[in-house]
Amino acid sequence: MNHKIEVSGLRKSFGGLAVLRDINLRVEPGAVVALIGPSGSGKSTLLRCLNLLVIPDGGRVRIGESSFSFDAGGTLPGAREQARFRSNAGMVFQHFNLFPHMTVLQNVMEGPVSVKSAPKAEAEALARRLLAKVGLSDKVDAFPNKLSGGQKQRVAIARALAMEPEVMLFDEATSALDPELVGEVLGVMRDLAAEGMTMIIVTHEIGFAREVADRVVFMRDGVIVEEGPAREVIGQPREEATKAFLSHFHTRG
Ligand code: ADP
Ligand code: MG
Repeated sequence: MNHKIEVSGLRKSFGGLAVLRDINLRVEPGAVVALIGPSGSGKSTLLRCLNLLVIPDGGRVRIGESSFSFDAGGTLPGAREQARFRSNAGMVFQHFNLFPHMTVLQNVMEGPVSVKSAPKAEAEALARRLLAKVGLSDKVDAFPNKLSGGQKQRVAIARALAMEPEVMLFDEATSALDPELVGEVLGVMRDLAAEGMTMIIVTHEIGFAREVADRVVFMRDGVIVEEGPAREVIGQPREEATKAFLSHFHTRG
């Protein structure tokens, strides 16, 4: 099986604190993995290692055809290779970091134009198509400060998609939103999953994880404690730590 994402023996410490200890994770093409676990368990660091926003201390990371080894003896990727690798993974954070002085359309065009040297007309056509897909065709000329949090987050998703990434990584993309705006962002994520995008989603929306994710990975203290089909891990967790974590959530069904 040729996986889309393959992480092996991944390690990362900050100072004396081991934040990721020997993480092994494989994601099949088109699969959606929900990454859950208590605060501080290393979820964000793991996503950041996949995007080289954090450089691992050891292990290997592969996304599609691009891979890096961080083990002793391997050479760390140069800035250029890092940038190329990074464009394989689109990332959406809790806080939408849109450029305030650019319109919605310009925000989505920016990456292709400045990083990939795409012709403007082409970047604009792609941006308009992606903004239509996230339901924001009527906001192309608006500035970010005129948008709701849910709309901003949908622009952030369109902006990440504009780089035509192989995989999408979501780090608590709905955690900062007012409750009534969560659904519109989850809806866009659900559509992406249905289209076959390979995704890793860090989320506290356990009901969403059960419904949309193929697999759930539960992390604690820098270790993957349990993983399996979403319905099994959420419905019948095996490990005490998973049970204890899930007992904090009310899930239906
Ligand atoms: P999670 O996303 O599961 O809440 P994180 O990956 O953000 O966990 O953090 C895991 C641990 O690593 C925490 O103890 C956090 O304080 C620490 N940590 C994360 N990033 C850094 C950093 N850049 N420098 C020092 N410590 C960090
Ligand atoms: Mg986090």
